[in-house]
Amino acid sequence: MSRSLIVAANWKMNGDSALIDAMIAKLSQVSFNDNVKVVIAPSFPYLDKLNSAVKAANLSDKISVSAQNISEQTSGAFTGEVSTAMLCDLAISHTIIGHSERRSIYGESDTLIADKVAVALAAGVTPILCIGESEAEREAGQTEQVLAKQLSAVIEKTGIEAFANIVLAYEPVWAIGTGKTASPEMAQETHAFIRKFIAASAQDIALMLPILYGGSVNQKTSEALFAQPDIDGGLIGGASLKADEFGTICQNA
Ligand code: PGA
Repeated sequence: MSRSLIVAANWKMNGDSALIDAMIAKLSQVSFNDNVKVVIAPSFPYLDKLNSAVKAANLSDKISVSAQNISEQTSGAFTGEVSTAMLCDLAISHTIIGHSERRSIYGESDTLIADKVAVALAAGVTPILCIGESEAEREAGQTEQVLAKQLSAVIEKTGIEAFANIVLAYEPVWAIGTGKTASPEMAQETHAFIRKFIAASAQDIALMLPILYGGSVNQKTSEALFAQPDIDGGLIGGASLKADEFGTICQNA
């Protein structure tokens, strides 16, 4: 069995009802390759509207809806937080966890991120777990060490078997929103390391694990990146806010 290709959109704190309408109109016209799956992550207030629009357009077999973050708590007095139970109530199947903006701006630690992954898995919500090194870490030759540490924190919490139900996104921090994409060869080398790292504990799980690349992916760079043997699609920020460009990325995947 081969891995499917996942094209995921991370809208971050952008987008509105008009973008949902434009995106659904565009994706309704795309002829997807059989093995391509699309995931779209709008901000919380738009999850339900997007999910309904996907259903109404008969695109549920192709497009899944994702949150961008969740609480590590299950319920209670946590003002401003959103639980996995709420995502399940709205039939939202995925959530991004550990995006570098959550790690750097909101101080989310490896431990907190591991807790969030565990809570998502317990609720049956698929985590899109983001990992990646900073520019300084890459220049210091610490990329593999950083990725291993980020992955180990989750493995310690959930066990390696949990990776059968996780989507990984490798996003070098220096490539996010900067226009600097890792070259396909550089990204492939890092993806191969990640797969080998997981394979050291669970060969079968590693073979089936989707590992997405993220960081300034656009309609020009996506094809060469997605063609790499260990790159199973992308997590796309800026270019996912333009329905035409995102449609092209999905079409070419
Ligand atoms: P970018 O964002 O495509 O705008 O670099 C990717 C991400 O942060 O997920």
